Amino acid sequence: MRFHHTSRFVVLSLVLFFALAAAQSPAPQTPSRADILRGEYSLWRANNDLLSYDLDIRVNPDKKFISGKNTIRFKMLKDDTRIQLDLFANLNVDKILHGTTELKYSRELGTVFVDFPAMLKKGSVQSIEFYYSGSPKETGRFGGISYGKDPAGRHWITTACEGIGASIWWPNKDQQRDEVEHMQLHVAVPSSLTDVSNGRFVGKKDLGDGYTRYDWNISYPINNYNVSLNIGAYEHFSDRLGDLMLDYYCLPENLDKAKRQFAQAKPMLEAFQKYFGEYPFKRDGYKLIEVPYSGMEHQSAVTYGNKFANGYLERDWTGVGVSLKFDFIIIHESAHEWFGNSITAADVSDQWIHEGWATYAECVYVEAMFSREDALKYTNGYKAKVRNRQPILTKPETNQTPGQDQYFKGALFLNTLRSVVDNDQRWWKLLRDYCKRFKYQNIMNDDLVAFFNKQTGKNLTPIFDQYLRHAALPVLELKFQESDGSVTYRWKADVKEFAMPVKVGGKGRWQTIQPTTEWKTMKTDLKKADFEVATDLYYIEVSKQ
Ligand SMILES: [Zn+2]
Repeated sequence: MRFHHTSRFVVLSLVLFFALAAAQSPAPQTPSRADILRGEYSLWRANNDLLSYDLDIRVNPDKKFISGKNTIRFKMLKDDTRIQLDLFANLNVDKILHGTTELKYSRELGTVFVDFPAMLKKGSVQSIEFYYSGSPKETGRFGGISYGKDPAGRHWITTACEGIGASIWWPNKDQQRDEVEHMQLHVAVPSSLTDVSNGRFVGKKDLGDGYTRYDWNISYPINNYNVSLNIGAYEHFSDRLGDLMLDYYCLPENLDKAKRQFAQAKPMLEAFQKYFGEYPFKRDGYKLIEVPYSGMEHQSAVTYGNKFANGYLERDWTGVGVSLKFDFIIIHESAHEWFGNSITAADVSDQWIHEGWATYAECVYVEAMFSREDALKYTNGYKAKVRNRQPILTKPETNQTPGQDQYFKGALFLNTLRSVVDNDQRWWKLLRDYCKRFKYQNIMNDDLVAFFNKQTGKNLTPIFDQYLRHAALPVLELKFQESDGSVTYRWKADVKEFAMPVKVGGKGRWQTIQPTTEWKTMKTDLKKADFEVATDLYYIEVSKQ
């Protein structure tokens, strides 16, 4: 997902950001009860493992009303009589069935504790039908659910609920650690409209009462927030990339524009497959779906609202003349298929696993499509957006989404890490191996660091820690003794054991030095003014004395 929404929201979110930064400084906010309920992997979440969802709903656009049920299958990991699910408090729980038994439940804020009359045995597979109804509210950073109209006045209903939570519109186990293995979606909508959701289109059925039901099958694990409704007067066209189905949906008036702009999807997918391995959701296909908001990485159903123009909302996103060469939303949101959807952060605290990596994938795309020079320009263009005020990682289990440094500083850090590895062949192999090793898994940053340490045979933990667990950049301190042709140098960093190689000297004559937090001395024939540091390759601060 993108941090900013529209230019109006940029101003709003900046205001909010500063308010938030002031409120959070120096100590993070104490999590509310709602944050604990949403964020904690509690006893009653950890006692079960999700297997599948079957969400069967009817959407009434005129009444802004949803009703239906989610059949939730799960395996018990220990003996217990209670599980924890989530549904926003403004939605009604109609009944919860376990076979023919109606279950008792209690609600606290957005949480529904479901109680079973008899012990569910460890290892047993259980299934409940969770019936609900109500009018989900339009709220949160991206609307959650919105009942809009397209420019021709037809209904256009979309969901984008990352952050606020999928339980804003349907009942589920609303956290990121546990995913279902597969899911079915049945969405009944007025017959003049089409629902485009995730996964493979199975079929549609005229229900004979003015509604048509659209059936979708998701044959891979999926995050709750990726599950999406896109209900509108959609036109459809399709293409293939080898044996991967590409399906495109747009408003009928935008068909020509969409055909032109969505042509960028194919070379993008080819580039990502080259660097990150095969598209992870091949059986479900790849879709781009026009929506009224900027875009979202909905798995195998990427939503698109970038005005069929290059750049981001018709602006040069990184301001260095590169981003107008491509459609930012197609590239960024699709990168999440690898980073976020296939490899998922098990807690929102470590969400840079999605956003830092998807942002870095933009840089990889630029390198693949244009040049390494453009890629460096583009990547370093992100420096203007970094704040270095809060660490990228937040406290786990407190429902605390990291600030926007997770995107831009995250990408600049990965560019730095590539320079630390300093061998492109090894770097690309590392990325491919990382995507393969954690495919369809939910991981924490520690898993990622352990993998990079093992694969490189280096202790990169202090470097990861400095960039992710601290707000400040490492500073390369240089003290010149021009009279005897030497310079002393060291890192000033929060992490005591911080040690990172860095290239110094000048373009065409870079020399790699190995500073630590202790002073070292080297000979140089360069004067202080001519002594350069490769700050395009390493995101650091330099202090010359
Ligand atoms: Zn994103």
